Amino acid sequence: MVTGAGDGIGRVTAHTLAARGATVILLGRTVSKLESLYDEIHSSDAPEPGIVPMDLMNTSEDKINEMANAIGEQYGRLDGILHNASILGTRLPFANSDLNEWREVMQVNFMAPVMLTRLLLPLVERSNDASIVFTSSSVGNKPRAYWSAYAVSKYALEGLALLLADELENTSAIRINIVNPAATRTAMRAAAYPAEDPMTVKTAEELMPLYLYLLGNRHGGEHGELFDPRTWEPPKR
Ligand code: NDP
Repeated sequence: MVTGAGDGIGRVTAHTLAARGATVILLGRTVSKLESLYDEIHSSDAPEPGIVPMDLMNTSEDKINEMANAIGEQYGRLDGILHNASILGTRLPFANSDLNEWREVMQVNFMAPVMLTRLLLPLVERSNDASIVFTSSSVGNKPRAYWSAYAVSKYALEGLALLLADELENTSAIRINIVNPAATRTAMRAAAYPAEDPMTVKTAEELMPLYLYLLGNRHGGEHGELFDPRTWEPPKR
């Protein structure tokens, strides 16, 4: 499952996983984007993807349980979750920040991954080689002035990932890791740095060796680690 699959890094990851033979469940909020991605994947030789239209801002335990039941019936298990969907919010001094925006950003970027992971865990436990990847940010590892709820949501997300990694270390085969994709040419990056020339920023495609390594079956068993494409090198085999 890839959340936020309709655009940006999520879209490229969904394509890449499907091209490598994965049956990808595309979760996102804009149905037209999911449908065009579905058509692109389905018209290739890749396995038919699944679509889950879900606005993570307004989701609920009931809706996620309904989805989990449907996935269980159709696919039997989940081999991986990429928690990728996120909103940027407004960069502002804390004193000027809007409390409703705090709630929204924390819901999409943090509470939604909590809810999805908690309710999908039984399906992930049915896999014998599962991976859950949480997408953070440089400002999540070390919150930076004015990055407001976005920075704090990613900091909390890293906490969740490390908590889960510790809990599951000796009781489960599920690998839990964090990725900080770092500057990547997407709509979110353009919104955060409007004066930047996008051509100076790496593409989402350039992240794919790392994402495939973490989500695929040729990993090295890494667990509880933070990955950054600027320092990561594929292991020599
Ligand atoms: P984009 O804004 O390009 O894509 C984000 C995706 O998340 C979109 O498909 C969007 O849906 C989806 N999404 C947003 N809100 C919701 C919601 N309420 N419910 C369901 N889906 C939602 O972002 P990126 O691809 O750049 O970012 C991907 C991840 O990488 C994020 O977690 C981001 O924080 C992180 N990141 C990105 C960096 C970068 O430079 N790009 C740097 C560091 C971290 P829709 O298409 O419908 O809007």
